[in-house]
Amino acid sequence: MTDFRMANIPKQEAYDLLRDWIKLVARHTNPDQNISELLGWLWKLKPPVLDSETGLVPCGCGGKAETHELFGEYRGTYMTDCKECATGTTQYNTEKESQDAWNTAMGYKGGAE
Ligand SMILES: [Zn+2]
Repeated sequence: MTDFRMANIPKQEAYDLLRDWIKLVARHTNPDQNISELLGWLWKLKPPVLDSETGLVPCGCGGKAETHELFGEYRGTYMTDCKECATGTTQYNTEKESQDAWNTAMGYKGGAE
């Protein structure tokens, strides 16, 4: 018997399969049932998605992240932090390194989650 816990599928695909399955089962068992609560719980498990504007995944708190150059003696280095809770990376020499560090810390694996 296949051990589906070992299936090598991205989280996004597992999410999509579960969402479709919940909708299908609900439609066949009780079409009048409100499944928005169930879909809301499932949504909590949705893997992080890059913001098309910033290239950053959201913070674990749900806040939007941004990358900025530091001031003073750290000028020329970059850090990425959350605008809501102020969690952030250490400073990096390039914006890209700072963004990659943030995305990795927030569980992003390039869409292969
Ligand atoms: Zn945050």
